[in-house]
Amino acid sequence: MATPGTPGRRWRGPALAAAVAAALVGFFFALPEPGEERLAPPAPGFVLRDVRVFDGERVIERATVVVREGRIAAVGPDVAVPPGLPVQDGQGGTLLPGLIDAHVHTWGDGLAETLNFGVTTVLDMFSDPGPHQALRRTRESLSPRAHADKFSAGALATAPGGHGTQFGVKVPTLTTPAEAPAWVDARLAEGSDFIKIVYEPRTAEGLGPPFPSLDRATMAALISAAQARQRPAVVHVSRHVPAEEALAAGADGLVHVHVDRVAEPALVQLARERGAFVIPALAVIAGFDPTPPPAGQLREPLRLAADPAVRPFLTPDQRRGLESAPTTKLVMFRLDTALASVRALHEGGVEILAGSDAPNPGTAHGASLHHELELLVRAGLTPVQALRAATSAPARRFGLADRGRIAPGQRADLLLVAGDPTADIRATRAIQRIWKNGAAVERHRYPEAP
Ligand SMILES: [Zn+2]
Repeated sequence: MATPGTPGRRWRGPALAAAVAAALVGFFFALPEPGEERLAPPAPGFVLRDVRVFDGERVIERATVVVREGRIAAVGPDVAVPPGLPVQDGQGGTLLPGLIDAHVHTWGDGLAETLNFGVTTVLDMFSDPGPHQALRRTRESLSPRAHADKFSAGALATAPGGHGTQFGVKVPTLTTPAEAPAWVDARLAEGSDFIKIVYEPRTAEGLGPPFPSLDRATMAALISAAQARQRPAVVHVSRHVPAEEALAAGADGLVHVHVDRVAEPALVQLARERGAFVIPALAVIAGFDPTPPPAGQLREPLRLAADPAVRPFLTPDQRRGLESAPTTKLVMFRLDTALASVRALHEGGVEILAGSDAPNPGTAHGASLHHELELLVRAGLTPVQALRAATSAPARRFGLADRGRIAPGQRADLLLVAGDPTADIRATRAIQRIWKNGAAVERHRYPEAP
């Protein structure tokens, strides 16, 4: 199960990995991110009355929530309204913890686009580590801000010429288990919050992506080195056998569900026994799936882009990204197969986390996490289980103690939606209000191109 040397860490257990394959995209390049900001004091607070609350774990049908200076002060059915704070009526709505997208890649305006859809925290699975240092400092504060908080792997672990080296970000590669401890130390020195490993070996028959991969021993040594330093180790895989090998090596989780066939009972059992989680990133598989939709229906990403609750808040670039045709002819990407695997994993007791892999083609920051929630429900999670997968579960697995729940002391990252997403998951898109650190976020609308 957990690796010796990591007692008491909430994320102990096998690592995550996952693997959408070869094609994960050649358009990745580094642009500036929000830098170090002047940190304003937290907003004074407010009270939200008579609102349904999903607190990250369960539903409270009617509650009052008190927010003071960036944090939740009280929540419950019998909480008294304190004097001196503005009071809002939440009837007919549901208050959720700010959502957490457990698989993204951010640069440029990505973190602002993310927040525009109520996603207040992201787990970045590889981007330029340079801008991350300033973001690490800001994210600890309770100051109001216009972008989501980012926790990041920084550079990923891959072989020379391997997946991840094609995006224009300088990636320090390695080839042997002996290099693993120093490689992990270098990432932690750069500010990485966890370790992401790409494991795409060819099969004995020579099948697999057309680029080199770390070997099994080096993948395992990286997991051990990360866990010895109290950091989660997650693995990108795209196929069944490498997924099993990563789980056997003790990965905390997989950051994709494999796509070559439906998960077999042995894989499910291994993941459950090791306590590993899986971030299936169904949204990006839906984006790559070349299967024509049934007659009269739109492809999944087009349907998201056309949703009137979503479309006005997408930037023109985001609309184009969702509406682009699949850029690859990767017949391996079948949403149906991936949904069946997630169903098997979930029914087998494996914890599923919600992640979109935005901004890959067919996805958009923020919006695609709402799509992912819908896909997780289609795979058999209840709406409440899907909401946990985007709130308390990733916070627990990645050791983010101050977010993912609506409870006293938690950071007041909040999302108020109309209706009841614990009954109909698509209600998460009916956003009425977003708060980051207890301060209301101004949502941006973008006019249609003429
Ligand atoms: Zn990714």
